Amino acid sequence: MNNDKKLTTASGIPYYYNEDTQSVGPRGPLLLQDFILHEKMAHFNRERIPERVVHAKGSGAFGTFTVTNDITQYTKAKVFSEIGKKTKVLLRFSTVGGEKGSADTERDPRGFAVKFYTEEGNWDLVGNNTPIFFIKDPKKFSDFIHTQKRDPYTNLKSPTMMWDYWSLNPESLHQVMFLFSDRGTPYGYRHMNGYGSHTFSFINANDERFWVKFHFKTAQGIKNFTNEEAVKMKGIDPDFAQRDLLEAIDNGNFPKWHLKIQVMTEEQAKTYKYNPFDLTKVWSHKDFPLIDVGVMELNENAQNYFAEIEQSAFAPAHVVPGIGYSPDKMLQGRLLSYPDAHRYRLGSNYEQIPVNRCPYMVNNYERDGFMAVNGNGGKSPNYWPNSFDDVKLDEHTKQPAWPLESNLADWYSRNGEGENDHYSQPGIFYREVLSTDDKKALIKNISGALKGVSGEKKDEIINRQLCHFFRADIGFGMAVATELGVNVEGAMPKEHPKAESMPS
Ligand code: NDP
Repeated sequence: MNNDKKLTTASGIPYYYNEDTQSVGPRGPLLLQDFILHEKMAHFNRERIPERVVHAKGSGAFGTFTVTNDITQYTKAKVFSEIGKKTKVLLRFSTVGGEKGSADTERDPRGFAVKFYTEEGNWDLVGNNTPIFFIKDPKKFSDFIHTQKRDPYTNLKSPTMMWDYWSLNPESLHQVMFLFSDRGTPYGYRHMNGYGSHTFSFINANDERFWVKFHFKTAQGIKNFTNEEAVKMKGIDPDFAQRDLLEAIDNGNFPKWHLKIQVMTEEQAKTYKYNPFDLTKVWSHKDFPLIDVGVMELNENAQNYFAEIEQSAFAPAHVVPGIGYSPDKMLQGRLLSYPDAHRYRLGSNYEQIPVNRCPYMVNNYERDGFMAVNGNGGKSPNYWPNSFDDVKLDEHTKQPAWPLESNLADWYSRNGEGENDHYSQPGIFYREVLSTDDKKALIKNISGALKGVSGEKKDEIINRQLCHFFRADIGFGMAVATELGVNVEGAMPKEHPKAESMPS
C-alpha cells in the first residue's frame, strides 16, 4: 500500500488540479463537470455556523482542576472526592453583546464557562466574571439583550435603549454598577474572577442538600483597563484578550484560578435577609465565608479554534450526581435555553462533537438526527427497557425530594413584597467595596455613557436612572448628576450632602 500523503477530495479521491479549473481553451468558459471547484466553493459557502446570539466572541483553553480541600461533607460529586484528584477542564471566555468580530475590550460582562470532564459525565459551570446579573426572571432576557444589540432603525448600538431599559428595571442597578466600574473592561481574561453566579445545590452521601455558590478567584491578580485604555485598545488590537491568553499558554505561563464556594443550609435559606435565589444579589462573605476547594490551571491551547472552541457547547443543565439546581428563576430558564441554543447552532447531536463528548461513558437511546457521527448505537437496541443490552439505572444518582415553599401557581411579581430591595447591596458596593479611585472611575464611566442618551426621552431616562443612583447612595447620585450638569438641588431633601463633583 502506498502511504504517501496525497491531496484528495472530501470523499478521499486523489486529484491533481487544485488551482486550475477545467475550461474550454486556456481563456474559455469553465466546465460544470469540474466538481472539485463546486466542492471547494460549496463547502466554503457553508463555513460559518450561526454565531451565538450572546457570547459570540470568545477564547478558550484546556486545563486541569485539582482538589486542594475536602468538601465531601457537602457533596458526593466524584470530581471533589479526594484531595489531589485532577479533572480535565475546558474554559471558554467571552464578551456578551458584541458580534463574533467585535473587540475584546468592549465594556461588557465576560462569560466564564467551565466544562469539567468528570468520570460521572460532563459538568458545565456556565458563569460570568460578575457574581450577579441585570435581571432575575428569564422572561425578560430577550428584551434585555435587544437593548444591548443594535437599534432596529439605525443598526447602531444605542445608549438610549440601554439606559431606557436599565432605568425601567431597577433590579439591574447592582450589575450596572459592576459593569461601569473598571471591572467592566478587564485586562484580557487572565486577570478577572469567574463566578457560577446562580445558586446551585450540593447533595452529599447522606442525601442532605445544601445551597452553594461558586467563585473562581484569579491567581494573576485583578487588572483592568481604564475606559480610555480600553477604547484605544479596540483600535490597536481588537483581539487583545485572545492574543493574551493564547500567548501566555504557548509561553508556559499558565493562568490559574482558585475555586471557592459559599454554602448555605436549607434552614438558613428560609431566613436569610435576601432571597438567596435572586441573581441580582450576592451572599455576603461575612454571612457565608468562602471555603477553599481547589485550583484550576489552563495549560493547553486548542489545536483548532473552530473544532474545539467555536463548537464547544456549555449548558447549566449539565450537572453531575452530587450537584443539582435551585429555585433561582434565571437558572431554571437557562436549563432550557442553553441546550436549545446548541441544538439550533450545532444540531441535535451537538454532544457527539469531540469537544462536547463525555470521554468516559454515554449510554442512551437517542438515535438519528443530523450528523449522527458516533456510530448511532450500531446494532444495539434503540429503546428501553429491553431484554438485550445490560444498561442499568444507577440508584446512586437519585436526588432527594425537594420541598417547595408553596403550592400556589401564579405569576408572582419579581419585585413584589420582600423582593424589591434593589438598592442596599449597590449602596454597600459603592461605600464599602470601591476605593476612592474606583469610585472616581465609576462616576466618570457612568456619566460618560449617560451622555450618549439622546432624543425626546433623554431627560426622562437620565432622571429616572439618577433616582436609582440616589437610592443606592446619595453622594454617588450627586456626583453623577454633577458630572452630567444636572441640577437636582431643588428636588433633594434638605439634609442631603452638598453636591460633590468627585469623591476625594
Ligand atoms: P466583602 O468585603 O467580604 O466582599 C467584597 C467582594 O468584592 C470581594 O469578593 C472582592 O473580592 C470584591 N471586590 C473588590 N473590589 C471590587 C470591585 N471593584 N468590583 C467588584 N468586586 C470587587 O463583602 P460582602 O461579601 O459582604 O459583599 C459586599 C459587596 O461586595 C456586595 O454587596 C457586592 O456588591 C460586592 N461583591 C460581593 C461578592 C460576594 O459574592 N459576596 C463578590 C463580589 C463583589 P475580589 O477583589 O477578589 O473580587
